[in-house]
Amino acid sequence: MANEKKILVVDDEDDVRLFLQDFLNERNLAVEAAGNGEEALKKIEANPPDIVLLDIMMPGMDGLTCLEQIKKKHPKIMVVMITALKDETRINRAKELGAHNYIVKPFSLSYLETELMKLFQG
Ligand SMILES: [Mg+2]
Repeated sequence: MANEKKILVVDDEDDVRLFLQDFLNERNLAVEAAGNGEEALKKIEANPPDIVLLDIMMPGMDGLTCLEQIKKKHPKIMVVMITALKDETRINRAKELGAHNYIVKPFSLSYLETELMKLFQG
């Protein structure tokens, strides 16, 4: 599934970032990671990705605020929210703010394969 898509993974949990980075690296995708919203916005300015995987619940700037900032400056970046629970209110708010979709933690490999790879085939 090699292509030239650049992906930024944003999550405050180290193990989630590492899991997603490994998963995407193994599929020859260019992956960067950030542990909080502020770092994510800096990395996006420096090297805009095609896709951002963005955790909703983070200390400091939360995922919804970060999403709003990303979409304001980079409406074409596809943002997929990461959520630990099926929080309908936050998921609906994310969609209003322009999120493309969401994925639910914890991830299994087959779940990620199905949910993420269909995004990256575009
Ligand atoms: Mg979190």
